[in-house]
This record gives sequence, structure tokens and C-alpha cells, in this order.
Amino acid sequence: MTYSEAKIRAAKLREEIDFHRYNYHVLDRETVAPAALDSLKNELFRLEREFPTLITPDSPTQRVAGRPLDKFSKIEHSEPMISLFDAFSEEEMCAWEERNDNYLGRRFRPEYYCELKLDGLAVSLQYRQGLLVRAATRGDGKIGEDVTNNIKTIGSLPLKLRRPTEKELIDLGLDKAARTKIGQLLTAGVIEIRGEAIMTKAVFEELNKKYARQGRPLLANTRNGVAGSIRQLDPKIAAERKLEFYAYDILLDGYNRGETIATRAQADKLSALLGIKTLRQNRVSVDLTAVFAFYRATEKNRARLPFHIDGVVVKVNDLKMWPVLGVVGKAPRYEMAYKFSAEQATTEVREVVWQVGRTGALTPTALLEPVKVGGVTISRSTLHNFDEIRRLDLKINDTVIIERSGDVIPKVLTVLKNLRTGREREIFPPKVCPMCGGEVIKEKDEVAYRCADKRCYAVNLRRIGHFVSKGAADLEGLGPKLIEQFLTSGLIKDAADLYVLRKEDLLGLERFAEKKADNVIKMMADRRVLTVERFIYGLGIRHVGEETAALLAEALRLSGKISIPELIRAGQKFQADDWEKMSDIGPIVARSIVAFWHDKHDLELLKKFHDNGVTLRATASGSTAAALAGKKLAGRVFVLTGSLSGLTRGEAKDKIKILGGKTKENVTRETDYVVVGADPGSKYEQAKKLGIKILTEEEFLQIIKG
Ligand SMILES: [Zn+2]
Repeated sequence: MTYSEAKIRAAKLREEIDFHRYNYHVLDRETVAPAALDSLKNELFRLEREFPTLITPDSPTQRVAGRPLDKFSKIEHSEPMISLFDAFSEEEMCAWEERNDNYLGRRFRPEYYCELKLDGLAVSLQYRQGLLVRAATRGDGKIGEDVTNNIKTIGSLPLKLRRPTEKELIDLGLDKAARTKIGQLLTAGVIEIRGEAIMTKAVFEELNKKYARQGRPLLANTRNGVAGSIRQLDPKIAAERKLEFYAYDILLDGYNRGETIATRAQADKLSALLGIKTLRQNRVSVDLTAVFAFYRATEKNRARLPFHIDGVVVKVNDLKMWPVLGVVGKAPRYEMAYKFSAEQATTEVREVVWQVGRTGALTPTALLEPVKVGGVTISRSTLHNFDEIRRLDLKINDTVIIERSGDVIPKVLTVLKNLRTGREREIFPPKVCPMCGGEVIKEKDEVAYRCADKRCYAVNLRRIGHFVSKGAADLEGLGPKLIEQFLTSGLIKDAADLYVLRKEDLLGLERFAEKKADNVIKMMADRRVLTVERFIYGLGIRHVGEETAALLAEALRLSGKISIPELIRAGQKFQADDWEKMSDIGPIVARSIVAFWHDKHDLELLKKFHDNGVTLRATASGSTAAALAGKKLAGRVFVLTGSLSGLTRGEAKDKIKILGGKTKENVTRETDYVVVGADPGSKYEQAKKLGIKILTEEEFLQIIKG
């Protein structure tokens, strides 16, 4: 992106972010999910990092959320209520630790204190002489709103701090001076407690049920429920909402961080001793590895918690280090919000492609600028049908909000039209079928466009299934279900596309975990080289089965490594009568083979295989006609019937082939041997009738052994 492009983009992002933030923080109205807003902020942050001169003093990256409402009186915070930096991955957490190393100029591997990150409203409580005198929202970080009356409705919050016993303070590890100081602050000083006011999930549901009965507007979510009760003027409403408060910080007037109380863990316990609720889930973690374990366990159990959390706040446990590490920009170095992966994100639509479904319906898929959603990178998203594109008013190059929940295929939720620059392109319904190039139709009473050829999908599915089958490319694990999933999600149109599947594409599919995706990608990378005969067989040329494909490969007289263009050149040299001269190839088969080497669509597919990195090699046994001549079973024709006990039918066929022989399905006068296993079929009768040599399994094994 050029500087001037970045400048325009940054300005548009700022406008958009400010609009949603104003709604969210000031009007308590959620016009976009917090995750999507974060996604926009991250993009702006990245742009500003790349082009630092783009940073403006009023950029949303430069300030703390919200501004005080006019209707409340203002309170200036004794120490700013700062916002936190966000991290979404272990890598980002490690990078944070390294940044702190660099800042301190030494290896700093501290103990951390992990706290659940509650999704509520941050509030600062001031206790003077042990009595709650005022409560303020964060506001812009420096100045908040006086919400004392509403906060006082929180039943569990003490209006007077509890006085811990001497023994409790000793058990907490406080020395004599510290114990005296706390006693003094409770009697004549100021103690400030900071924490989060929240609404539990149970209360939220109960309230919404009640509101629904009364025909009142419902609460959008618990955070909204909290903000709406604390930031309004009638304490009766606040009381009805049954809020809770959990402490996350404690400030002792006249004392620096790390004096009196040494660690965050101790501070948490002290808050509890003073009668303020703290989260019993909070834990000391000896290092980042322990932090990661705590994070994973918490994410797994979050649904079972009585309240909503959106991550874990990781703090340096040693409070003396807090002033040493200090603040950079608007957020501290000593703590980090390690957030759960967002399930919504913003990204740009690069292209829209159409895929053919099982019923022939054409479904649009948006190809996206890859973006992380819910922990995985997503690069495509379904659009369902053309009506949906119209409903969204989506254009190519639009910035969109996408959502992924659980393992469900991601979808486009909204288009952020304010971010348009004029480079957007209209999306049109498809003119021809992307699979067969045929006509596209649309019934009057139907939403979907379809391929006019009803068999289009089935034929293609079968063709791809044939290519991956054992006798051809032998791509194990790529069963019909998987191929169907690839086809219907638009990841592939033909077998050649299988070789350029990307991990992030697979992770966007339903029921596709990391490991499964890795396996598929690895297999495709490992199996890029095919033998000529397997490749020809896999192409599904009419009338060309495994045997004919082997014959064809032989006739082309290729050796060593061969590129697909070389194969095409070799194939095109043969005319129909050249093929017909060979035994076993009749005129119909010969015509079909010649037609194949000159068909435009077939050649396009071959070229695509080549472009996607598929190469060929001549069969290992070097089974050219010349080489075959000297072999033990050269020119001998076998038919197998009944089941063999010592080897599979496939193994038997391979042995015969290696020794220069052939296997056929039907017994004719040209058959040399019929191998009869257990429960032979009608072929055995036919062989007897024609007087053809019959071999038992043992006799057959004898022949192929020597
Ligand atoms: Zn079609």
C-alpha cells in the first residue's frame, strides 16, 4: 500500500471506528460487535505502525474509550484509568515479554498473575476513612462520571470497608509497618479500589424474560445491561439489575506500587479482606508457559462461568516492577489483555467465484484477504446466492465484517460502505457454468442460478473421484464425501485444483481440524509425481481403462522424468490408425484417444495439472513393449476368478504385469490362463467350455515365483 492510499484508508478507518465507539461507549448502543471493532482498530494500528506520520492526536489508537456523559458530574481520577494492550496469540505474548526485555536491557522472566477479563464496566471506588464516598466510570481515562448513587445499589459492595484482623494481615505476609499503614488508611486515609461492574448471565436472562413480558426493549448483552444501569440517572433501575462488582486493582494513598503490598496476588487477597469480591479463578503463573495453560483451560471452561469474560489479563506479579516498566503510549508495559480469539473480524473481498452444487445450483463464494477469525485464518466465505449479494449490497474490494462461530463455515455479515474508495466493482450473476462452461439458467420462482446441464455436478464429481482412485493418483483419504465438500465449497473445480489447496482454505470448512488439514496438504505435496500410466488412466478418457492406459503409456515410449507438455506432444503424434495397429485397441477406442489429445477442455485441464506442479515419470519397471519381450509372461493373457487366499487380486495383477503378462476381465479365445480361486464364477465354466488352461492358486503362485 502506498503512503497516499494508507492515508485515505486511515482517515476512513478513524471515522468508522469513532462512529461505532461513540455509539458503544456514550450511547450504550452496540452498532458493531466489539470483535469487529477491534479488527478495524488493529488494521489502523498496523497502518500507523507502517506509516508513523499518519498518527494523529485524535486517532482512536491514541486514546482510552469513551468520554463522560454531560448529565453526570465529572470526577478526575487520582491516577489515570489506563486501557490495556491486546494480544491474541502465544506469539504475541512472547513478543510482549521480549519487548520488556529490550526495554529493561536485561532478560526479564517474571512471575505473572492471571486474572479473568470480565466483560463489564470499569469503575473506580474511593473509600475515605473506610467509607464509600464516590464511584466513577473510566470515562476518557483521566476524567470519569460520578456514578456513586448507582454503584451503591450493588448489594454485594460494602459501603464501609471491612477492617481485617491483625492475624489476617500477618498471614497475608505484611510486615508491621504495612499493617499499621493499612489501619491508618482505614481510619483516616483514602483507599481506592478499581474493578469491573458486571451482570451475570442468569440475571441477564431473567431480566430479558421479564422485559419481554412487559413489552419493554430487551438488553442486547450483559455489558450493555451493566452500562445501561450504571450510566443512567435513576438508581431504582440500577437496583433492579442486580449487578456485581469484582476488584482488579487497589491503590493506597501516599504509597507507591510495591510498597506495603508486594504482589498482585497479595493485593487481590487484601481486597477480599477489605470486603470486596475478587475472582477466585485468578492465579499466579510462574512463567508464560503456565500462563498459556491457564488461558487454554479458561477458554475451554468460559461457557460454564456465571459471567461473560473475553480473555485473561496477564500482569507482572511483582508490583515494584510496575513503575519501572511504566506506560508506553496509553497502555502499561506491565500487563497485557490476552484476549480470546475474536469470532468476528473485518477484511476485504478480493473476488467472487461461483461453484456448482449437487443440484446444479450456482453458489457465490467471496475470496477474502486472509484474516484470523476464532483462531484460524479464513480466506473465503459463502454468500449463499445472488439475492444475498444484493441484500448485502456487496461489491468486490469492499471491506466486510465476517463471522465464524464454532466450526461453521464463515459468512459475510455486513458491508462497511463508509470505507469505500471508488475502486469497488459490481458483482454480476454468472454467464456460463464455471464447471462445464455450459449455459446458465434461472427459473422465475427460484433464487438460484443453475447449470442447464443437470448432470454437470455428478459427472464432475465422478471424474474427480476417478482421478483420486487407487488405480490412478491413489490419493488415500480423499473419499467422495471430502471431494464433495471441496466441490460444494468451491475450493476445487477439477482434480488439478487438489494440488493447490491451502491449509487456510481447508480450515474454513466444516469439521476440518488442524491435523486433518495438515494431512491433506502433506499428502498432496508428497504425491505430485505420477507414473504416466496412472496419470492417463486418472484422466478418465472414454473407453480407456487401466489396461489400455498402461498400453498407451508403453506405446508413447517415454522414459525417466516427463513433463505434462512433453506427454501432450508425444500423445498428439499418434493418429487413429497408429493406435488401431496395436492389439487390444479397436477403432472406437482409438478415436476416443485421438479426440482426447486434441480437445480444448482436456488440454486446458492437462495444462492446469502442469501449472499446479504435477509431473510424471515412466513406470519403474520400465515396461516398454521392448523390455516386455524378454519377460517370462510376455504377451500372456490371464483372467482371474474366485477369491485367492495368498494374495489380493490387485497383487496378483501387479505380479502378472511385472512379468510382462496382462490380465483381462473376460474369458475369450485369446485368454491363455484362467486362475481359479475359491467360489469361482461363470468365467470358470466359460474357460472349461473354450478349453483354456486352468490354474489353481498354487499353480499360479508357482509360475509367478520363479
Ligand atoms: Zn455445468
